[in-house]
Amino acid sequence: MAIEAVLLDIDDTLVDTRGAFRHALLRVADEYLDAGADPEEVLAHWREDRSGWYRAHTRGEMTHREQRKRRAIELHAAFGGPHLDDEAYDIWDAGFERHFREGWHAFEDSAALLDELDARGIPYGAVSNADFNYQVLKLAACGLQRVPMLVGVDTFGVGKPDARVFVEGCRLLAVEPAVTAYVGDEPDLDAGGAHAAGLHGVWLDRPGTRRAGHGEAPAGTVRISGLLGLLDHL
Ligand SMILES: [Mg+2]
Repeated sequence: MAIEAVLLDIDDTLVDTRGAFRHALLRVADEYLDAGADPEEVLAHWREDRSGWYRAHTRGEMTHREQRKRRAIELHAAFGGPHLDDEAYDIWDAGFERHFREGWHAFEDSAALLDELDARGIPYGAVSNADFNYQVLKLAACGLQRVPMLVGVDTFGVGKPDARVFVEGCRLLAVEPAVTAYVGDEPDLDAGGAHAAGLHGVWLDRPGTRRAGHGEAPAGTVRISGLLGLLDHL
């Protein structure tokens, strides 16, 4: 690969978002769900998002609040929690959000990768399927404020894997897709989407963090098991 620039996913790539969800969901389980609910199953249920509400949000079909509310209602239905009307959901969400933010932290290899990219003069930036300002806040909370936030789902209108999202990231970084790598933890959404948009798709397959149903790197993409693995491809 001839890589002159790197675009990065944020959640579960630079930031341990899964760990933060675990932190928040443990407290939700404590407060709302059946005493017998297995925390690992609660977390897996949340991440799997079987009905695809988050993806509907990234397609511009519903607000962030609406997708999270629907997921909370489904979670409660699956694990014996009470029904959440609008008012109850607002209280639920305030608690969830507070605990979620408490759990935000960067992976250990995130700063190490950025140090290497800085040392090599390789520009980088973040392209995310979450809201722009929220991700700026999250990066700062994790000590990663040196990563320029380039594209958020709310500012661009659609999210990955739409090819235009990756191309927009390249445009804002003033680089060509053909010499840009996109690194993310989701093989289809991130690596596959980037490849289809003409970038180098890199699937970050951290041990123990795969979502259900993922296994093979999409054709034309490469798989790394930690962020520093990217250095072997520069
Ligand atoms: Mg991600």
